[in-house]
Amino acid sequence: MICNNLSVNEKGHLAFAGYDTVELAKKYGTPLYLMDEEKIREHARTYKTAMAAVFPAGSVPEFASKAFSCKQIYRIMAEEGMDIDVVSPGEIYTAASAGFPMEKSFFHGNNKTDSDIAFAIDQGVGYFVVDNAEELAALNRIAGEKGICQKILLRVTPGIDPHTHKKISTGSVESKFGMAIATGQALEITKTALTLPHVALCGFHCHIGSQIFESAPFITAADMMLDFIDEVRTSTGFTAKMLDLGGGFGVRYTKDDPVIDYGEKIREVAAAVNAKCEKLGLAVPKILMEPGRSLVADAGMTLYTVGSVKEITGYKTYVSIDGGMTDNPRYTLYESPYTVLLADRPEDPQNLVATVGGRCCESGDLIQENVAMPRPVRGEILAVLTTGAYNYSMASNYNRVGRPPVVMLSKQGDYVAVERESFKHLCALDK
Ligand SMILES: *Cc1c(COP(=O)(O)O)cnc(C)c1O
Repeated sequence: MICNNLSVNEKGHLAFAGYDTVELAKKYGTPLYLMDEEKIREHARTYKTAMAAVFPAGSVPEFASKAFSCKQIYRIMAEEGMDIDVVSPGEIYTAASAGFPMEKSFFHGNNKTDSDIAFAIDQGVGYFVVDNAEELAALNRIAGEKGICQKILLRVTPGIDPHTHKKISTGSVESKFGMAIATGQALEITKTALTLPHVALCGFHCHIGSQIFESAPFITAADMMLDFIDEVRTSTGFTAKMLDLGGGFGVRYTKDDPVIDYGEKIREVAAAVNAKCEKLGLAVPKILMEPGRSLVADAGMTLYTVGSVKEITGYKTYVSIDGGMTDNPRYTLYESPYTVLLADRPEDPQNLVATVGGRCCESGDLIQENVAMPRPVRGEILAVLTTGAYNYSMASNYNRVGRPPVVMLSKQGDYVAVERESFKHLCALDK
């Protein structure tokens, strides 16, 4: 099994976090998102403990909440002492409604509107991660109107490409995010920020991409960011107190992905950061990291009920399920690999190679192709693993399909964190 929260129980069913998945499908219906609460907490503690051991006091992980946003996850992150990233007023509202201490939040985004900025200030967001010159000017103006000085980081693009999928690579010079070091625009916006009365520059941020398994790209980014901090110090006298290295550590979607020890990777990054700071004669800034996927992905699983098994003689076989791109658009978007198991009989001989197709009116609505599995029958339960990140948060109502509920599995029991969308919810805004 690709993660230690998976097993096969005495009935021969797939178990997740110790729970029988076939029973859960019966209890809650399908499609169904499951989240292993202990796994989320375990990952949060791994990051916190590793960072506290190797970086200066105040160096903390922020959960990049775009990976999975609902009130309960913000409560869990608050309990674990995590900071959070938010990227929209909707995420800010959700976190604030859950009672998350908003001074521990970082507001990202490459196009914050004036009303987003005002709302975030009113909600007490701790830091803005400023993307561009217009945002900086607008923030200074709006913070001035409200009579405050807003703490900020500036988002800088170090100009590296970690060789992941184009759509999830964000650190290159031509990226739509941030200001490039290479063009001189990062230094220019820094100088501007230092002249503004209603923003307080605390440091810099970069985010190079996602699904990265090595520490090397992070080390390269940190190296370039520290050179930039040194350049800023020389040319302006300002020394950054914070350096945010972004998120992006990978997760195991299939057996082909390596097992990754996040603590070990953090220690490798720290060794490089500390050596570089010593070389530059720079006090090590507070280091921040922003894991999203690696905190929640393998804590998640989606269960579906099989409908038809359609063999197109001489071509291929489709196993159709009662969900699809509406609850997991990632195969449609990026051809993301996933592991698929027949939850009723995961260990039966794999006598079928099939394409798992969703229920939507789109030929591209697939969950995975070329999946080896036991030939399922209508009514059996199919499990797609590692769906805790960017599934629920990317879900849609295409074809007026309601979003599945999110059920949390904890040591105390299973409970609904997000209800299933009903027909009533679907028509709630219609006049
Ligand atoms: C998406 C994103 C993250 C999280 O990335 P993961 O790959 O999910 O860890 C962190 N920071 C920023 C700025 C992001 O855009």
